Amino acid sequence: MRLSHPGASLRNRLFLGHALLLALALATVTAIETRGQRDWILSRDREALERTAHHLVFDLPSAGPAAPGAAPDWPDWAGRKARGLGARITLIDSTGRVIGDSEVPREELPTLENHATRPEVRRALAGNPGWAVRHSASIGVDLLYVAVPAGRMGAGNPAVVRVAEPLANISRVNTSLLRLSFAAMALTLAGMALLLFWFTGRHAGRIRDLEEAAARLGADSPAPRASELPEDSLGRLGRAINSMAGELKSRLHAIEQERDERDLILAHMSDGVALLDRDGLVLHMNHRLAAILGATRPADPGTPFPEFVRSPELDDLLKRARLGTSPVETDLRLWSPQLRLVRATASPLRASSAGVLLVLHDLTEAETLNRVRQDFVANVSHELRTPLTSLRGYAETLLEGGLDDAAHREGFVRVIRDQTLRLQALVSDLLSLAELERPEARLNWETFDLREAVERQMGAFRPAARRTGLALEIEPGPAEIVRADRPRIDQVLANLLDNAVKYTERGEVRVRLGGDESRVWCEVSDTGHGIPPGDRARIFERFYRVDKGRSREQGGTGLGLSIVKHILALHRGDVTVRVNAGPGSTFRFEFPRVPVVRAS
Ligand code: ADP
Repeated sequence: MRLSHPGASLRNRLFLGHALLLALALATVTAIETRGQRDWILSRDREALERTAHHLVFDLPSAGPAAPGAAPDWPDWAGRKARGLGARITLIDSTGRVIGDSEVPREELPTLENHATRPEVRRALAGNPGWAVRHSASIGVDLLYVAVPAGRMGAGNPAVVRVAEPLANISRVNTSLLRLSFAAMALTLAGMALLLFWFTGRHAGRIRDLEEAAARLGADSPAPRASELPEDSLGRLGRAINSMAGELKSRLHAIEQERDERDLILAHMSDGVALLDRDGLVLHMNHRLAAILGATRPADPGTPFPEFVRSPELDDLLKRARLGTSPVETDLRLWSPQLRLVRATASPLRASSAGVLLVLHDLTEAETLNRVRQDFVANVSHELRTPLTSLRGYAETLLEGGLDDAAHREGFVRVIRDQTLRLQALVSDLLSLAELERPEARLNWETFDLREAVERQMGAFRPAARRTGLALEIEPGPAEIVRADRPRIDQVLANLLDNAVKYTERGEVRVRLGGDESRVWCEVSDTGHGIPPGDRARIFERFYRVDKGRSREQGGTGLGLSIVKHILALHRGDVTVRVNAGPGSTFRFEFPRVPVVRAS
């Protein structure tokens, strides 16, 4: 559980703990010191009393003042000395009997108990100074007794002089000292508490900052920055967190980069790829897989795959992959929405948490290509068969007596020549197409005037046009300097002019040129019978003819426009056809004036 103010709570705990320890330490020190003070005062007072006692011993009268030789009046002497000193004075003889006491009237002296057993008196009787603190039964207060030997032997002579002072005097001094000590302790405690409060606050703040920086380590941004100063353990911890944050950031960056690269690769793959977990939930899917399955976007991670696509064959394939150890493969026909032929491969991924890697390879294009190739071969065979059959037929006719038929033999040979020319044209067009379709097909760029090229090509078609009474015109204009493959552009012009002349019975064939700084165009219009709308899109396909009989009759191969389209594609240009307002159609081709540099 997290407290609402972790920093404040940490500071409170630090502060209270330290303050308690400090108070305890101060109290102990004060107690020891008070005790020491008391002992010191006691010993100082004891020494003072001892000195006083020695003085008194010194002062002891040898005989009474009134009658020399007689024993002195000890009670009186003790009383007088005590008044002068302000202390109690007791004189004790060697038997322990009190012979004079400043606090006890003379007549009560005999009633006092023997003092020989009192500790201070016993020591003094033994010849050493002695002291004791005791409650005096005679005067009812605590007293400090100090007794010193006085050296007078025999009963009635002071063998011990004892001086006593009430302990209350000592306690008074002690109490005021004690008060001073407590005041000092309280002041120290207050000062230390303030200092401690500041220190623990600062410490707790630094720890809280480090905690926050550490907590932000796993989060995205901004990158945590812990304080590294001052250079103590917390500072070093801050530096460690910072270097950890830097390390973490660079590792995260590397992982992100790796992920982006992987996503980029997957996104641009021509195959559809999906990674599914053991329960069939999508972990990752690229756009291509979604497109193959007819979806607009990939499934979100966590989507059950069978919900994304309902295909019993795919479900079965995934199940088999999950149960097996090696990849399983199958060809599927998917309607998504048009028919697609797909090769699906599901590989079990044992080592990873993912369950299955599904790869969909779209065979539709390959299949279409295959079909196109088959159609092409069939078309070529068909195109070849007719002239070959005709050649064989006429050759056999000649051999079987036709050579002797003077009226017809020349006609037979002419047919043979025409069919050979047709075959030659077909082979030549096929070769051109094959050349243009080669992946490594290159253009030989040269700079020339397109107008001049058009005029030259038109010159070649003039005899044929004149024969059918066709006008062949080019609209006047400036030179159109282009950079292109001249022989191929010549071929484009030849094919378009050939068609225009071939398919126009009367009227004219007109060529127009134009362009701007980036592109150049050329239009070949005729007044022929035009092309029906349904065929316009298909006439650029190989072997597609609107009117097969007419085309063959005219020596057409059905490949001319497809060659034109290819040549323009290589020039990064295009060819289109439109119907004229009047009779006929207009073919227009255009391409960049300067070659477009390929990106790759
Ligand atoms: P072909 O050798 O048969 O002319 P092309 O590829 O050049 O083959 O043309 C394909 C078909 O397009 C032709 O068979 C013809 O039916 C039609 N076509 C092409 N050019 C014209 C045109 N100028 N006018 C009418 N039809 C045309």
